[in-house]
Amino acid sequence: MLGSDFGGNNQPLCHMAASPSSVEPPALRRALLRWYDRHRRVLPWRAAPGRRAEPYHVWLSEIMLQQTTVATVGPYFERFVRRWPDIGALARAPLDDVLHGWQGLGYYARARNLHRCAGVVSGDFDGRFPDTEDGLRALPGIGPYTAAAIAAIAFDRPASVVDGNVERVIARLRAVETPLPGAKPALRDLAAELAPRRGNGRPGDYAQALMDLGATVCRPRRPACDRCPWAGACQARHAGNAETLPRRAARTARPVRRGVAFWVVRPDGAVLLRRRPESGLLGGMIEVPSTEWRAAAPDMAEIGAAAPVMADWTPLAGIVRHTFTHFHLELSVRAATVADGTCPGAIWCLPDRLGEHALPSVMKKVVAHALLGKRVGSSGRTG
Ligand code: SF4
Repeated sequence: MLGSDFGGNNQPLCHMAASPSSVEPPALRRALLRWYDRHRRVLPWRAAPGRRAEPYHVWLSEIMLQQTTVATVGPYFERFVRRWPDIGALARAPLDDVLHGWQGLGYYARARNLHRCAGVVSGDFDGRFPDTEDGLRALPGIGPYTAAAIAAIAFDRPASVVDGNVERVIARLRAVETPLPGAKPALRDLAAELAPRRGNGRPGDYAQALMDLGATVCRPRRPACDRCPWAGACQARHAGNAETLPRRAARTARPVRRGVAFWVVRPDGAVLLRRRPESGLLGGMIEVPSTEWRAAAPDMAEIGAAAPVMADWTPLAGIVRHTFTHFHLELSVRAATVADGTCPGAIWCLPDRLGEHALPSVMKKVVAHALLGKRVGSSGRTG
């Protein structure tokens, strides 16, 4: 029964005279943990009830879950663990193999940091993760949220773990009307007031319970308040505006950037690829060479300067479109056939072996576009 998790008398709190905001954190924690014990999600990286979580699994899943859904991450996690069963195996793997395994998860800087972090833990910490938030935050690719999540889930350290799901639950529970992202500090403070302060408060289970509540009950649309262990205490539910929270500041439109990609083919059919610089967007990934991506389409001089080889270029019909977090990209493609492959850093690859390279999604689109491409208009010699 909803709300019956509160108080010692099993009386639904929503029918009690006390206001929802008067429910104390310990009562909320107990209610949430009781709910979690019955309704916890079974996830590939999660330890069975009563079992200690494997820090490698917790870390790997938390890095994969940044910006990605549980449903997407599941098969990736299982493949990674099968191929690299421990942190040492992952540290010893070539970076290209890790990037290749990461294809489809996006945000490739995470994969590079994952590999670096594996090297540090394996080399400097004898394969054991630090068990404090501060120690974890010193590792590559681990920010405040991930450090708190690993500290709580893997080591049962008291830590307040606040992701988007948790922000939503807290904003509703406490009826926070300030729009995101401005409300973040206040939501973090409110979440910290609720979180267990001691190890015997089951910090790891509490963190996962709150994540599960946000993912399965306190959903963005149509929250299932009738199944919520906090229903009696929830201020937004009482106010009848749960679905409108958290509020969000109006988004600014994503800008558009433009560029030209160069599809270079040798007489044997091999295609010219190269590796992007290690830092920056898609760092270290394999790409079809292109101009810089900027608001203004590149002029002929910029196209000529960026072309990887001297060639007679033919524009292909159509535009390749891709959306990144902060901008939309529009790439036109120019194609050429060259007699030899004298380009610094060139990686020549036959089309049927392109799958062996860690091509990000945008570059897969360029490849598909070029392989299907129809030549249009004039050609021009650049380089
Ligand atoms: Fe629970 Fe509904 Fe409140 Fe979310 S909005 S915390 S589901 S009662």
